Amino acid sequence: MAYEFNHYYEIQNVATGKYVNVLGNHEDGTVKNGETVNLFNRTNNPDQRWALENFGGNGNVRIVLQRGEGWYALNYNTRNTNCIVWHLNTADDTDTVITTVEVENRPNTYYLMLRDRSIYLTAVGTALKWSAYTGEEEQMFTILKPGTGSDGSDSGEVSNVPDSKLVTKFIPAYEGNYTKDRKAQGGTISEITIHHCASILTIDALGALWQREGRKGSSHYGVSETSIGQYVHENDVAWTNGNWEANCRAVTIETSNSAGAPDWPVSDTTFNTLVTLVADIARRNSLGKLVKGENLTWHSMYAATACPGPYLSNKLQELVDKANAINGF
Ligand SMILES: [Zn+2]
Repeated sequence: MAYEFNHYYEIQNVATGKYVNVLGNHEDGTVKNGETVNLFNRTNNPDQRWALENFGGNGNVRIVLQRGEGWYALNYNTRNTNCIVWHLNTADDTDTVITTVEVENRPNTYYLMLRDRSIYLTAVGTALKWSAYTGEEEQMFTILKPGTGSDGSDSGEVSNVPDSKLVTKFIPAYEGNYTKDRKAQGGTISEITIHHCASILTIDALGALWQREGRKGSSHYGVSETSIGQYVHENDVAWTNGNWEANCRAVTIETSNSAGAPDWPVSDTTFNTLVTLVADIARRNSLGKLVKGENLTWHSMYAATACPGPYLSNKLQELVDKANAINGF
């Protein structure tokens, strides 16, 4: 059994990517008997935090939410077959005891069957109903630690509109090479981190690296001569700094070299393009005056690496000064 009893989880429907949610606004902390349960984008609110309470073993549980004065369980509305919540103290076993049935080859994913009625929790658009078994993804639910799944928003398509007007081309990174929704991770942009490619790369060649499944790395931007590539939106977390907290704070830039070891130089053209991009990111994100080592950082501050190489490391103060001059600091 992959989930643990009495821990909080988010429950994501496989077909829609959306989360099991108590409908409505419960800012006063109260939930009422009979309130509708639906599917919604991840909100990080307690209205989407569910615990699975053991009910006599054999995968039988009650799926409960704690709000206000008590515990509310997923329940069956006999009138319209909707999924609702009902206070545990007065809920009937017949309408609350759920058998979790593992879905083969899908980790942490289950069919949720109302044990005594043999009907299954089913997504109907963003509504949740109890209905006969189909085995389709509409009836599959993944039980996730809060904040670890996708956000469930409808824009499954990544917008190809770059964040910076300076960008030559947006080449979306493979979705498994970065983390969506910086805000949902608790991150706020507060710095720009400089990297070098340790290679002479065009923005397309760098994009091809980030598009490769299994690469497990990415950057927001790449700079090569007069071209700027964007690969990950600034609102998402690129995996560049080798440090999760730093990734959550940073907009990251990979800079193409013009030659290799030992100096790993960067051409003047590339450097000047980097200056304009850094100034633009700082201005749009209200980073204020850039200060080397504070809101203008570099890879080796966070990980055991030679990145961004000797040449660029010696140019970081010049980079800061020139970007500040563009922004009037
Ligand atoms: Zn680096």
